Amino acid sequence: ERKQVIVITPTYNRALQAYFLNRLGQVLRLVQPPLLWIVVEMTSASAETAEILRKTGVMYRHLVCVNKNNTSVKDRGVHQRNAGLEHIERHRLDGIVYFADDDNVYSLELFESLRNISRFGTWPVAMLAQSKNKAILEGPVCNASQVIGWHTNEKSKRLRRFHVDMSGFAFNSTILWDPKRWNRPFSNPIRQLDTVKEGFQETTFIEQVVEDESQMESVPPSCSRILNWHLHLDAHGLVYPRGWLLQKNLEVV
Ligand code: UDP
Repeated sequence: ERKQVIVITPTYNRALQAYFLNRLGQVLRLVQPPLLWIVVEMTSASAETAEILRKTGVMYRHLVCVNKNNTSVKDRGVHQRNAGLEHIERHRLDGIVYFADDDNVYSLELFESLRNISRFGTWPVAMLAQSKNKAILEGPVCNASQVIGWHTNEKSKRLRRFHVDMSGFAFNSTILWDPKRWNRPFSNPIRQLDTVKEGFQETTFIEQVVEDESQMESVPPSCSRILNWHLHLDAHGLVYPRGWLLQKNLEVV
């Protein structure tokens, strides 16, 4: 029996949103059998996002995250991802959960590989920073299907237990409500993504889900390929052709 794949994407209105969501939506649309795309916005569901989602042909749920604590926008989607997790928990959606930010680039192979994960899977992600003009890897070093170490880089020199990017791991949703099944006595419900320490969100979450590397599955076995790319594209200072309009998304009028 093949597992369902559940993708959580935080998003917000900005110049390149239409470009990002269309690009992601078009990969998701190719995945067979169809997956479920949970798209979460802050405060209210925008007409711009709704319109794009309707056209993608992907099975989606468009959620809104109400920021009760009124914390800063600097949390970069953390509350939205948590809202996605809460939705999965509340409706007991069974499947492999994956956090896919809207601005990254994903291969079809990645989404197909997710179905092979039984509990927790991780893989190396290539990070491309436009400003620094270089590419680095973040994620596991593997020997066959075993995770034996981590690619580290300047961003991760601080003491993170697991050097994993937000878009470099996926897990079985049953972890969210059935701790015993994973043979580990962590508190239930598990703490969600960390909202405080920037850069520690992934590792804080993962530390609650697995004990160590021996409980991780490499995707694909031996981590032999790059399946997605984390981009840092800056849309500030773009120059638009005459007649192009920038209100919430970039559009031609
Ligand atoms: N995001 C969001 N609201 C924000 C900032 C970010 O919904 O105020 C989303 C964004 O659309 C993306 C994800 O959070 O899907 C990661 O954001 P960003 O690319 O800024 O983080 P980075 O890639 O730089 O870590």
